[in-house]
Amino acid sequence: MGIYNLMPLYLLIAIICAIASAGIAARKERSVVGYFFLGLLTSVIGLVIALTMEHGWICKYCKEGVKKDALICPHCRKEFKVESAEERILREEIDRDKRIGYAVLIIALIVFIYWASTR
Ligand SMILES: [Zn+2]
Repeated sequence: MGIYNLMPLYLLIAIICAIASAGIAARKERSVVGYFFLGLLTSVIGLVIALTMEHGWICKYCKEGVKKDALICPHCRKEFKVESAEERILREEIDRDKRIGYAVLIIALIVFIYWASTR
């Protein structure tokens, strides 16, 4: 199989990665459009970045995304107590091991698709 025959496959993988990256970004309170294009342009790399990135935090009062160490919400100006993380809710936290597990699984899948397509 020549390299040109594989082009639609690469394109398909890139589109799948773009959609998956955007979906993960949405769940983590990150830029959906940004991660869609990152996935589209960098394919598996973008997806791995999306999987391994830190979860965004959301403000309990206005439900907008805030930085993990923020002391004041940039959207509604509510002050967060330093000790309490209650005011900033971590959505659907996935621990690091699990995220790396997903990343490895996806890489294995892509390698398998590539291997199968070259036979
Ligand atoms: Zn807020």
